Amino acid sequence: MNLDNLNKEQKEAATYTEGPLLILAGAGSGKTATMTHRIAYLINQGVSPYSILAVTFTNKAAGEMRNRVEKLVGPCPGMWIMTFHAMSLRILREHYYAAGYDKNFVVYDTVDQKTIIKNIIKAQNIDSKQYPQGYLSAVISKEKEADSDPEHFLETKGENPKTKVIYNVYCEYQRQLKSNNAMDFDDLLVNALHVLRDNPDILAQYQNRFRYIMVDEYQDTNHIQYEIIRMMAQAHQNICVVGDDDQCIYQWRGADIRNILDFEKDFPKAKVVKLEQNYRSSGNILAAAHSVIKNNRGRKTKKLWTEAESGAPIVYKRCDSDKEEAYYIAQEIDILSNNRSYDDFAVLYRTNAQSRLFEDALKRRHIPYQILSGFSFYERKETKDIICYMRLVVNPADDLALKRIINEPKRGMGPTTLGKLEALAKVNNQSLFDTLGQEDVVCSLPAKASKYVKEMMDVLKLCQQEKDNLRISDIYDNLLVKTGYMKALEDENTLEAEGRIENLLDFKSFIYDFEEEKDNAGEKATLEEFLERVATDSDTDKYDDKAGKVTLMTMHSAKGLEFPVVFMPGMEDGLFPGHRALDREDGIEEERRLCYVGMTRAKEKLFLTSASYRVLYGQGDYTRESTFLRELDKSLLDEAGDTIYEPSRRTANRLGVDTGSLDGFSENPPFRPFSYDPLKYAKQAVKDSAAGSGIDFMQGDQVTHGKFGHGIVVDVDAKTVTVAFDEGGTKKLAKGIAPLKKV
Ligand code: ATP
Ligand code: MG
Repeated sequence: MNLDNLNKEQKEAATYTEGPLLILAGAGSGKTATMTHRIAYLINQGVSPYSILAVTFTNKAAGEMRNRVEKLVGPCPGMWIMTFHAMSLRILREHYYAAGYDKNFVVYDTVDQKTIIKNIIKAQNIDSKQYPQGYLSAVISKEKEADSDPEHFLETKGENPKTKVIYNVYCEYQRQLKSNNAMDFDDLLVNALHVLRDNPDILAQYQNRFRYIMVDEYQDTNHIQYEIIRMMAQAHQNICVVGDDDQCIYQWRGADIRNILDFEKDFPKAKVVKLEQNYRSSGNILAAAHSVIKNNRGRKTKKLWTEAESGAPIVYKRCDSDKEEAYYIAQEIDILSNNRSYDDFAVLYRTNAQSRLFEDALKRRHIPYQILSGFSFYERKETKDIICYMRLVVNPADDLALKRIINEPKRGMGPTTLGKLEALAKVNNQSLFDTLGQEDVVCSLPAKASKYVKEMMDVLKLCQQEKDNLRISDIYDNLLVKTGYMKALEDENTLEAEGRIENLLDFKSFIYDFEEEKDNAGEKATLEEFLERVATDSDTDKYDDKAGKVTLMTMHSAKGLEFPVVFMPGMEDGLFPGHRALDREDGIEEERRLCYVGMTRAKEKLFLTSASYRVLYGQGDYTRESTFLRELDKSLLDEAGDTIYEPSRRTANRLGVDTGSLDGFSENPPFRPFSYDPLKYAKQAVKDSAAGSGIDFMQGDQVTHGKFGHGIVVDVDAKTVTVAFDEGGTKKLAKGIAPLKKV
């Protein structure tokens, strides 16, 4: 293996394998690249991939790192490259009993969390003005991040009417999660920590296994994450952490910058390597970022240098309004894209609320974009509904999921009927699913509900039973069609419903991707694992760097990524740095680090913009230029910038088509790219697949199966077909759902 493309310090870090190591370096200095080479080097030295653990900040970063390592040294089965959450989940799957859970526990996301807390507010008659759901969720999450349970919370905060309310909600929230056999995001970390801490034998198992542990983006680990890693590294002490104190941007979520500053204290023999050469950005961009970050006091002084040329000056533009700012940026992209791919551009903003105007402006110019917003596609109503169906296939105890979908589509299960059912389940100490599974209970429902709920239960039971015989996409199609979900949307026959169907089909391509990824890795794609992926994916994981699209995302999500051209809009006091940052002692320093992260994403060109007038959350106001702009070294600015922008009177759009309008805005697209209707086509495919097979099979029939391939029918009865497959043995499959075709 060749380490020659690393510089001296990078090589030193990559080959220093025994004992604790801290790689402390600035943005774009090749930290992630060095860590990747270090893993490859270890394997090349004969270390088994099985004994390597590498923690990254997103699933996507993990996937990329694995790809690069495998390109260098070939396939690495058994190596753990993943996020802290995914790692915790893995540990908990292996030792669920030690955490006090059942095997098939599920992970709840923020939407589920919201629903539960809202229900508790109602049930406990809490004044939601005084204690809004968002507030309660945040407090609970914060406590969990500090590994503090309800009792500990009450003890440390003291008992008063307010803490008592929070205490009660926190207790009930945990109780419900537990009874639904579910964990929320914070629980993953807390429970993993407890399992390792309270079970020396389990801890020893991981300590022995992972002889080499590495953590990227170490500056953003929180206390629990740090504890998990520290414990696991105790036996071998081969821990390498990689980070940049200037890029710590998650303190508000419990990240503890001291983790990085104190690493040398926890591991006194730690070797420290500093990387100071930046390979990403032009000289001007680097100097600009430095002129801002140097105003922070709590940092280890370091200065990056680069061999790259100074490059283009930084462009600053003050626009009259936020709308004009969006117009300006779209226009610049339009011009620059003449000799660049759209992938080259990123618009990095402070809050998701800023994104809409950019979407509008880009749409008008027919510039393709991808938006990574907090409101992710998993949180869309329809995706969420179908995920709940899938969750019930895996974990029937999931009352929250059942309650969500029992009347989606409408099955005559109104709140009163549901209330009665819940009461019954409580008395019998059963899950809703099990309660509904009783014949007499279903029959006692009002006529319409009785019929439709029974149908729904039958589909779910069938999927549960056949789960391991079906591909995830088959299960998906069956749920979508046989529960009546898709039909209900079709019957609505509105544009909105059509949009929802589109989203559901979009989600299916995501399932396909997952199946393909697993196929390529030679692994089985299980529904359980898929749901885990869904629950632990972050925004950045949906970022596609080869989509041929401009990327819109928050600066937080952009961590670790790089783009040739970066726009940073909204450089205004109150927005960036944000108002709330000013209330906290360290607030402005954290915002400044975020500004540094944003600027150092740029390789060749950096644009900063602000608007004199901005509307945010419905409130309009005049603004003042950001503190960070004032700190910026003005000699780096483009002299042509910073003037009032005048919209041009263009009459042609980007394609050179005259649109007849003065500003080039209100144009009709000159052609339609699709001569067929792709939506209709995809819808039919879902239905076909869910239709299973109504054909009557006979002994001796040659068949193919969506998952198991070719085989011969050896037995048939009223409900099942038994097939001997060429590979994978003999399987008994349920008629009507098994994706079987006669050859
Ligand atoms: P960040 O702080 O943003 O996470 P980083 O320190 O992890 O950045 P990388 O992303 O690893 O930096 O590297 C930044 C860029 O520099 C990448 O495009 C990488 O390919 C390139 N690079 C790193 N090391 C070298 C090198 N020795 N020679 C040439 N290019 C390099
Ligand atoms: Mg990095």
